Amino acid sequence: MSEVMEKRPETKNDAGALDAIVVGGGLGGLYALHRLRKLGLKARAFEAGSDVGGTWFWNRYPGARCDVESLEYSYSFDNDLQQEWHWPERYGNQPEILTYINHVADRFDLRKDVQLNTRVTSAEFDLGTNKWTVKTDKGDVVTAPFCIMATGNLSTPRVPDFKGIETFKGKWYHTGLWPHEGVDFTGLRVGVIGTGSSGVQMIPIIAKQAKHLHVFQRTANFSLPARNAPMDPVIETRHKSEYLDRRAAAYETPFGIAGFPPPTKAAMDVTAEERQAQYEAKWAEGGSISFLYSYTDLLVNKEANDTASEFVRNKIRSIVKDQAVAELLAPKDHPIGTKRLCLDTNYYETYNRDNVTLVNARATPIVELTETGLKTTEAEYAFDAIVFATGFDAMTGALKEIDIRVGNGPTLAEKWDGGPTTYLGLMVAGFPNMFTITGPGSPSVKTQMIVAIEQHMDWIGDCLTAMRARGMHRIEPSLEAERNWVQHVNDVADSTLYPLANSWYVGANIPGKPRVFMPYVGGFAGYKKRCDAVAANDYEGFVMSR
Ligand code: NAP
Repeated sequence: MSEVMEKRPETKNDAGALDAIVVGGGLGGLYALHRLRKLGLKARAFEAGSDVGGTWFWNRYPGARCDVESLEYSYSFDNDLQQEWHWPERYGNQPEILTYINHVADRFDLRKDVQLNTRVTSAEFDLGTNKWTVKTDKGDVVTAPFCIMATGNLSTPRVPDFKGIETFKGKWYHTGLWPHEGVDFTGLRVGVIGTGSSGVQMIPIIAKQAKHLHVFQRTANFSLPARNAPMDPVIETRHKSEYLDRRAAAYETPFGIAGFPPPTKAAMDVTAEERQAQYEAKWAEGGSISFLYSYTDLLVNKEANDTASEFVRNKIRSIVKDQAVAELLAPKDHPIGTKRLCLDTNYYETYNRDNVTLVNARATPIVELTETGLKTTEAEYAFDAIVFATGFDAMTGALKEIDIRVGNGPTLAEKWDGGPTTYLGLMVAGFPNMFTITGPGSPSVKTQMIVAIEQHMDWIGDCLTAMRARGMHRIEPSLEAERNWVQHVNDVADSTLYPLANSWYVGANIPGKPRVFMPYVGGFAGYKKRCDAVAANDYEGFVMSR
């Protein structure tokens, strides 16, 4: 096919010979490099961090741990890799996962194609040459026919725009930009703002160090016990003996994770006693998918969901001694599972400590930071350190920060002003030859991310191979295919309880962000079948040209 996709000899940093530019050196970017190399294509990745790892490079806050079990949360593309790697615990913690990613980068010799400490600032497609020109903050200017955005879904940390932040004389941190040397909170007066997954993991650990910890909670979140434990060698051996089958089976599941028997009954079809026993068993087992798999209808039927929500609220009431604090911690404004379910280790128990105070930041919002701490509408607090566990400009933030444009057309940020639009979460109409790994409109954050990354990159690899076979140079979705997909993503979300929550799935955590449901919640299995069918049906909905 095109001159741009011929196999070429390896020439390190030979920008002129690139077939693809990859933005990001996390799990997505590294797999993109590996997959492209297997196809005989030359690619270079740019990574803003000083090393590979993406999310797991940046999020080093105390207690950072994956909420998908370690035997699942790993690459499947190389059986020797998954057989040889040993995960020490049921859930991988941040240092272990980062070690694993570094191992993969070394084992598959990926580092030579990653340029670190380099942030991509712009990407411009030339309709005459069918090439992207990418510029970086280090002055690089590189061109290639394809651009693969592996920019992550939770990679743009957001600190609320509090007045007076620059006046605070203590230290402040964001969970997603944690200092590499770590932070010792011993004996300090600490304020943590935010009680999402990051806050819930971190709060029990900081509480053990701090002189006093104030937690500022705006919205109570549901959290389930993780029940982390050392890896059981029997489970590890069995899992590894079944790895290939389990990976294949994961593609047939809604969340991209095998091993959980799908529910067969609806919650209201059983007695209250049976429901209670089922929820108790799931609570004891630990993990979120297993809990949401209690019944078929927990995410689509409010009455069914109420039973699970109330079960967890009652657990909170039984764990937290001060009932006023327990009521504040018990979520009542959204159905369980419609915001990302948190997994914790001793989160609710932490509020029984004498040195921990929960502040209702909904009733008494934070108004400003001061030299000595912060002020709410009701009171002033003195802190040595403030931690923002305030989340990310999720799913679109990283892409909108890059000046992406095609000729004289609108930038991607302008096109997405009213919310992101994609076809299958893989490509955007009007932006040819640019692929998004786990982009908005794909199941991405509603799945095991690594399986989603592999599925996307494998699809992209097959697409590039098909283009090569047909002698095609350009591909983009039709506007109609994109419109239909966005409608479908919304229709599916509207058939569930998800839109009832003010979550980052709808951009509710970022003031002014348009309220659009971004991930595809129709399930990973159906989504993959749809992607495969599109490819088999002559890349239906895409337009290829020379
Ligand atoms: P998050 O879920 O968006 O939580 C941010 C928290 O900060 C929320 O409680 C939010 O309250 C609060 N907040 C934001 N602005 C505030 C303000 N001005 N005043 C008071 N509170 C404010 O962010 P996250 O905890 O970093 O988690 C993001 C996602 O990353 C998770 O949902 C998950 O997908 C992923 N993650 C996964 C793991 C894991 O695998 N275990 C760990 C960490 C993160 P509101 O809810 O009211 O907006």
